[in-house]
Amino acid sequence: MFDGPFTESIIKRAVDAEVCEIEIVDIRDFTHDKHNTADDTPYGGGCGMVMKVEPVVEAVESVTKDSPDARVIYLSPQGPRFTQNKARELAALPHLVLLCGHYEGIDERAFELAVHEELSIGDYVLTGGELPAMVVADSVIRLLPGAVGNDASVQNDSFWNGLLDCPHYTRPEEYRGLRVPGVLLSGHHAKIDEWRHQQALEKTHRIRPDLYETYHSTDPQDEA
Ligand code: SAM
Repeated sequence: MFDGPFTESIIKRAVDAEVCEIEIVDIRDFTHDKHNTADDTPYGGGCGMVMKVEPVVEAVESVTKDSPDARVIYLSPQGPRFTQNKARELAALPHLVLLCGHYEGIDERAFELAVHEELSIGDYVLTGGELPAMVVADSVIRLLPGAVGNDASVQNDSFWNGLLDCPHYTRPEEYRGLRVPGVLLSGHHAKIDEWRHQQALEKTHRIRPDLYETYHSTDPQDEA
């Protein structure tokens, strides 16, 4: 599952440039029986399967044993919501271990033995933790110095300063009667910066009033 996203575009370039290393570990390699059983029925009955504690804990330990600073994150719909601020926090860490669940999730004892925190990518339930792990990895890797062509460009993205990004235009100047705003063609950098900021404020106010309130309460000078 990881081959596509991890071998394309910015992540591929970051790996090739040794900005980061990615290792995929198969939990099944840490099973204890000849059938490679990684899941079992739940104690107490009920539907679904549960990922067994031994292979989960031993798979995590195989990558953390020589890495005392590794942060182990279990992707789970029950975790706190993953955000851009969290991505920035994780990008400053030397080693992340992203643990992917399946079925009903992992045996609860694995949290105590092998997990530092949980993260959710949103209030919906996916089949497994692989897609959430790819989401977290992508958003963290693009923040690493040297991962994107111009490091400053990630700082203009949505959420970096608490606002959504401003609208963007490229050639042609006119398409089907729609013109690029004149200020962007003026060459006046201070006016362009001011226009972009006002547009970002207006868009955030309209689409994400929750973000706007937070931004506004910390920067009362700005009016949408
Ligand atoms: N029984 C679990 C519950 O209701 O909380 C759902 C398990 S889900 C079917 C299987 C796995 O997918 C989870 O263990 C987790 O690793 C991953 N997963 C599903 N939704 C997720 C989300 N929104 N964020 C992060 N991981 C998620």
